[in-house]
Amino acid sequence: MKVIITNDYDEMSKTAFKFIKNEITDNPEAVLGLATGSTPIGLYEYMVRDYRENGTSYARITTVNLDEYEGLSPQNEQSYAFFMDKHLFGQIDIDRKNTFLPDGTAENSKEECRRYNSLLKEHVPDVQILGIGSNGHIGFNEPGTDFESVTHLVQLTQNTIKDNSRLFDDISQVPRRAYSMGIKNILSAKKIIVMASGANKAKAVYEMVNGKISADCPATALRNHSDVTVIVDAAAGKLLK
Ligand code: PGA
Repeated sequence: MKVIITNDYDEMSKTAFKFIKNEITDNPEAVLGLATGSTPIGLYEYMVRDYRENGTSYARITTVNLDEYEGLSPQNEQSYAFFMDKHLFGQIDIDRKNTFLPDGTAENSKEECRRYNSLLKEHVPDVQILGIGSNGHIGFNEPGTDFESVTHLVQLTQNTIKDNSRLFDDISQVPRRAYSMGIKNILSAKKIIVMASGANKAKAVYEMVNGKISADCPATALRNHSDVTVIVDAAAGKLLK
């Protein structure tokens, strides 16, 4: 696990952007595993700016996202499909047919998990972008999740519901369940980039890098992967040397 400590959010975003830019320059048909949340917004801004200024094309890129809230359609502003469209897909030349997320409105959740797992086998990310929860979750794989897990419907913990409530009008509106790639799916990516910003992530980042590899901190599973780069700002990296 390689760790890069940057000065601030902007430098973290720019550093991650350089990785992605190299990846898609080397392989214009790359599969990108993408994440939502506050952390990757700056990265997506750099990608959009680069597309506008330098014409870097996403026309042959495929994307697979980590997760989606159960019950929310892509038209719902709180859905991750809406987020991706707003921050990235709607602003670059990617073909929407090549962008994939779990379907929050699926009627049969078991069937939806099966569908997403087979889709992930077909589109293995060349690089997967990850954030990390303050409790060490990756995707919505909460503490206690089996490292062998594949796409599943997750009961969100109170901790995550509270963390995510800042993006909703009221905590009661935060969905209680979400579809998430499992840890095994995440580890199948060829390369992984973990981004973290802010002091509330410092403990989780420290655990991921130095803690015992255990389901108690799902992000420690990443130490079983051979190509992980952790890019943090100074606040999230403050417990690291
Ligand atoms: P955040 O979420 O980027 O909004 O902090 C990260 C995560 O919970 O995985």
